[in-house]
Amino acid sequence: MNVRPTPLLLALLLAASLPAQASVQKPTALRALQVTPASVPARPASVPGQVQPVAPGTLAAPRIPQLTLDPNMPEVQKVEYLSNGHIEVAGAVVTLEQPEQSCARAVAGAVARRVLAARAQLDEVDVSVYDKGTYGGFGGPSPLLTASVPRDRLNDFLAWTAGQGTYERAWVSTTPATPPLRAPDRVRELTVNFLGSVADKAADAVHHTTAKVLGGVQGGLLYHGSSRESLAALTFDDAPHPMYEPLVLDTLRRAGVHATFFVIGRNARAYPYFIRDMAEQGHEIGNHTFHHVRLPPLTPADVKQELTLTDQTLQGITGKPVRYFRPPGGDYTPATLRAAEGLGLTTVFWTDDPGDFQNPGVNVLLERYTRTLRRGGVVLLHDNAPEMLQVLPMFLRIADARNITLDTVGVLVKPGAQNDHRPAPTRARPAPALGPVDVTYTTQP
Ligand SMILES: [Zn+2]
Repeated sequence: MNVRPTPLLLALLLAASLPAQASVQKPTALRALQVTPASVPARPASVPGQVQPVAPGTLAAPRIPQLTLDPNMPEVQKVEYLSNGHIEVAGAVVTLEQPEQSCARAVAGAVARRVLAARAQLDEVDVSVYDKGTYGGFGGPSPLLTASVPRDRLNDFLAWTAGQGTYERAWVSTTPATPPLRAPDRVRELTVNFLGSVADKAADAVHHTTAKVLGGVQGGLLYHGSSRESLAALTFDDAPHPMYEPLVLDTLRRAGVHATFFVIGRNARAYPYFIRDMAEQGHEIGNHTFHHVRLPPLTPADVKQELTLTDQTLQGITGKPVRYFRPPGGDYTPATLRAAEGLGLTTVFWTDDPGDFQNPGVNVLLERYTRTLRRGGVVLLHDNAPEMLQVLPMFLRIADARNITLDTVGVLVKPGAQNDHRPAPTRARPAPALGPVDVTYTTQP
């Protein structure tokens, strides 16, 4: 299609073609020239899927600081940023009209440059470009282009957006923006829910009692590991999410902890570089369906498709087979278990769920976590729960203080597997002593 660039796009293209060193100015100059005071506008409640997924009854999430670009870029819907206490990452959402989409790379480059220039404390910006006509938040139609741009990779990214070289932390959709195959269900994992006939429930009770009493993998199910080992599994559901993933991975790296990420296939497809980061850093990657849908209402063929699509997506990124599966919402039937077993997947439940997605407050989260953490346990967190991110370092310290080693599901099932050909976690510095948690977000630029 022959598209006549608008003046705005011409300006963006020009900005993206400027020498990259222009973007790495002194912080004081940046603050004087390009930063307006940060504002924290209310989240637009009318946009479905803005946070994916949002369970009924969830309290309002903590307000996340937003950056305001000056001058404004009308394509930028929002720029949020968060810190894990060590690094700071922004997430920029961009929407483009169809005639502008042929310039999506140039726009993404201009946005990355502007965001990093606008806030000197940022270590990375994650850019997600969507079709403006169909944009429905993170859980809506997939983005057209995504990129993870650490500050020290900005020049590489800008070169790629200008058509030069390669950049491995970007993804470009090869299909038109279309509504998702299935809308994600508004459920999160809190309780394990078996659904079936009376006879099914009787059979399931025996099955599950065996798995719960004996521990380990029993008949394709895992509830917990052995209480004789000072190990517990750390698991994150619904990954990956831009902005959150670099922060979670950095926190785990600093603590020297490996975890299992139960991944939504469509998110993995649009942000494959975060899956690669997980694998390269020695974490384990599990299947959490392709669209984050409750499986009991689906036909056996559709259940198989949800699991197969996700396995194929993850194996295509990491080159490794997927071994573990967790059903969204904890909802399952005998058919769900058969489908998972048929694909060689062990279904993993949990023992410890502090309910981070409900935004109960960090003190409540800490109390729940402290009360339930045990040897052989399986801890369930969500990678995009802001309060989880805030208390994760304290979670890790509590486990350390109790001499419980947090690791992947694979290690919980097979103690000693932590030595099996994976990168050793590097503890960046000694764990600080237990202390009060800072519960205040920084909202100043
Ligand atoms: Zn989930």
